[in-house]
Amino acid sequence: MAGQQAVEHKYVYDFSEGNKDQKDLLGGKGANLAEMTNLGLPVPPGFTITTEACKAYLSTGEEPAGLGDQISARLATLESAMGKRLGDPDDPLLVSVRSGAKFSMPGMMETVLNVGLNDRSVVGLSAQAGGNDRFAWDSYRRLIQMFGKTVCEVPGEEFEHALDDVKRAKGVTNDLDLDADDLRGLVDAYKRIFSKHTGREFPQEPREQLDLAIHAVFESWNADRAVLYRRQERIPADLGTAVNVVAMVFGNLGPDSGTGVAFTRDPASGAQGIYGDYLANAQGEDVVAGIRNTVPLQELEQLDKKSYDELLSIMARLEEHYKDLCDIEFTIERGKLWMLQTRVGKRTAAAAFVIAGQLVDEGLIDLDEALHRVNGAQLAQLMFPRFKLDHEFQPVAKGIGASPGAAVGKVVFTSARAVELAAEGESVILVRRETNPDDLNGMIAAQGILTSRGGKTSHAAVVARGMGKTCVSGADDLDIDIPGRKFVVGGQTVSEGDVVSIDGTTGKVFLGEVPVMPSEVVQYFEGSLDPAHIDNALVRAVHRIMTHADGKRRLRVRTNADTGADAARARRFGAEGIGLCRTEHMFLGDRKELVERLILARDGKERDDALAALLPLQRADFVEIFREMDGLPVTVRLIDPPLHEFLPPLEQLAVNVAVAQERGEDVAKEEALLSAVRRMHEQNPMLGLRGVRLGLVIPGLFAMQVRAIAEAAVECAKQGVRSCPEIMVPLVGAVQELETVRSEAEKIIAEVTREQPVDVLIGTMIEVPRAALTAGQIAEAAQFFSFGTNDLTQMGWGFSRDDVEGAFFWRYLELGIFGISPFESIDREGVGRLVRIATEEGRAARPGLKIGVCGEHGGDPESVHFFHEVGLDYVSCSPFRVPVARLEAGRAVVETGGSDSR
Ligand code: ADP
Ligand code: MG
Ligand code: MG
Repeated sequence: MAGQQAVEHKYVYDFSEGNKDQKDLLGGKGANLAEMTNLGLPVPPGFTITTEACKAYLSTGEEPAGLGDQISARLATLESAMGKRLGDPDDPLLVSVRSGAKFSMPGMMETVLNVGLNDRSVVGLSAQAGGNDRFAWDSYRRLIQMFGKTVCEVPGEEFEHALDDVKRAKGVTNDLDLDADDLRGLVDAYKRIFSKHTGREFPQEPREQLDLAIHAVFESWNADRAVLYRRQERIPADLGTAVNVVAMVFGNLGPDSGTGVAFTRDPASGAQGIYGDYLANAQGEDVVAGIRNTVPLQELEQLDKKSYDELLSIMARLEEHYKDLCDIEFTIERGKLWMLQTRVGKRTAAAAFVIAGQLVDEGLIDLDEALHRVNGAQLAQLMFPRFKLDHEFQPVAKGIGASPGAAVGKVVFTSARAVELAAEGESVILVRRETNPDDLNGMIAAQGILTSRGGKTSHAAVVARGMGKTCVSGADDLDIDIPGRKFVVGGQTVSEGDVVSIDGTTGKVFLGEVPVMPSEVVQYFEGSLDPAHIDNALVRAVHRIMTHADGKRRLRVRTNADTGADAARARRFGAEGIGLCRTEHMFLGDRKELVERLILARDGKERDDALAALLPLQRADFVEIFREMDGLPVTVRLIDPPLHEFLPPLEQLAVNVAVAQERGEDVAKEEALLSAVRRMHEQNPMLGLRGVRLGLVIPGLFAMQVRAIAEAAVECAKQGVRSCPEIMVPLVGAVQELETVRSEAEKIIAEVTREQPVDVLIGTMIEVPRAALTAGQIAEAAQFFSFGTNDLTQMGWGFSRDDVEGAFFWRYLELGIFGISPFESIDREGVGRLVRIATEEGRAARPGLKIGVCGEHGGDPESVHFFHEVGLDYVSCSPFRVPVARLEAGRAVVETGGSDSR
């Protein structure tokens, strides 16, 4: 290489040169093969071509300079180590060419075995195997098949059909019953298929086979399936794949050879003990392909005790080294064990907790590491009940698993019917084409929600997730007839009252009642399982890790709850207060009548009467909640939504008026309502007369609520219940708004608590961008802040959630403008910046200012980490997410190295 100046970029690494931490460069498979090699485990020699080579190849369409020479050099080393040459006619070295990206992408990219075989070396291979012709031709036909399929895109079925034809002609079903002649004939058939589809002969030149296979692995990175998988799994598109070239070892040399896969523990339950499958006289891909029935790995002990014992000791060694569950692939060639792959194995949510707990017991990891190894998404999964499914139950439709869980109930088609039946103690499934805010009561009453339209961000999906309620959306095989109170699916008609079962994790819909198993983890949180006295590895592990998380976390976790029942449940789940008690439901149901009177009031007297009638009802609501939260803070938000939301929709009223007029009835009230609705109509209700603005224009409204809160606190105090109410003013954008509300509120509180003193704080939501940007001023008037990140997101981005989620979010996600919906996980850079600014300036103005967050982000794992970093005091989320937030708040501490960011 005379005249070459620049140091050549290194694209090829021998297994002895890498290690497990080089996944970016060598891919997962290559990095772990290198690690095992350096541990001295029996790995066939080989080398890895880097992801950088792949990226260079993909950007130019050709091999980067020097790659070919580096491969030649490595190949020469491999040949001398093995004492064979690639494709040598007398004694061929064969290799496998295996893809391996940083993240395992199952089934996405494939492997070619036996590279180096051709019409001449197949004879040499047979001779070297002691005249085992069958083995040699079997290996050759596999090469043509895999090469044809993965490198040249020959349809795989054609090879399979040809194999079936040979078996059928011979009257056998097992490929082991084919002899050398059959396989030789099959090779000819395969070659014909190959040339028919590619227009060329099967390449005989070993190095050409190798190069073509390497290029094909590179290119498979951009195969449609791979692109789709990456998008779904949020794997970056620019990582590229590495390619591993590994000397072949043969599991198909006879009954003393074979191949298998194993896990060092049960990846489903986490139970200790090895789990695996073994297949004698076979090459690797047969195990996965399920061509023949494998035997449990334990049977290898009888077949080949020496290899079995060695395998067990290697697995123990790997676990100790990786300090985690490993999965492996191995091959035995005539009694000699070879390790072909290992990685830290995938596992179910339950196994993740159980294994983390076991590894602590075994002294391999500490509790911080155990906490790091599990996550909130896994915990959330474990909190849903599951269906006990056997073959008896076949789904009739499949939609989108929009909100996990297993729900069974009678089908209803309207919100009203859902409420009625639920009141009779029935469990119901609300079926709608799609839901809208009118369905809210029905959704609350229902066990689950099933819609035929809409995706993961539809109203049904989002609201159901918020309520922790099972939801299957977009089951478009359902032909729903709301007026007819039925739907048709697969030719069957399901009418109101018929029972269905829906699985919000998988999106499956079943007719009839599928038995449900409650979640043991929820039973534990509910306090009905004592972890100390229970023989349940999962519950014990959850208990232990949660306890550790609670000890570690700095963020407090509160809940969003509007009723005593929710509050009680959240408290059992570990909530340390209520961060958001919405008061709007206190204006619904049978109180609607009073709200209508309030809105239609013609004078101050009528208005005051309506408010006076509402006061005792609200007070009773607060007493119930304060009692459940005895000793813990309760943040009550004054009424937030525009009042017209409490009135019937315009169309409905117009129809009512028309019908009543027709019948000659008195329509005065309907007409008054109708004109109120018309008058109150808003172009942009989200930006309209709501929140603090309502309080400032409707005399007495906030005052009534403040009085109800203060009186409830006094009543509680008299009964020995310690309440800590925090009155929260919504939608403040300017300090003057807050000051006005506060001075009136303070007068009322002072008056109500004169005889029975109680502390009532007055603070504000920070949910309007202007409030975040003037937080320093607002803090002067606020005793606490709570970020309303939903509105802050809406107003920060300038879009309304209800309008945009269905309209264009899918496109933004597709284009990568959003990695994830900003309503699901906080947008750190934009909305998050507002949170940071407001926190810093608020605390600068009022040192020690208590700051929390309410809204769905409070229970989102990623967002919890962000709020920890910013230094908030607490997050607040729906009761069901409280354990998730506790866990993630603990993880946030161990992941930032235990540092306290405040
Ligand atoms: P995947 O990533 O799909 O598991 P692999 O690259 O691991 O693909 O290869 C598929 C199968 O081929 C594996 O079961 C493995 O055991 C087998 N295999 C790969 N390389 C060799 C080799 N050098 N010798 C023998 N078998 C091999
Ligand atoms: Mg593999
Ligand atoms: Mg809001």
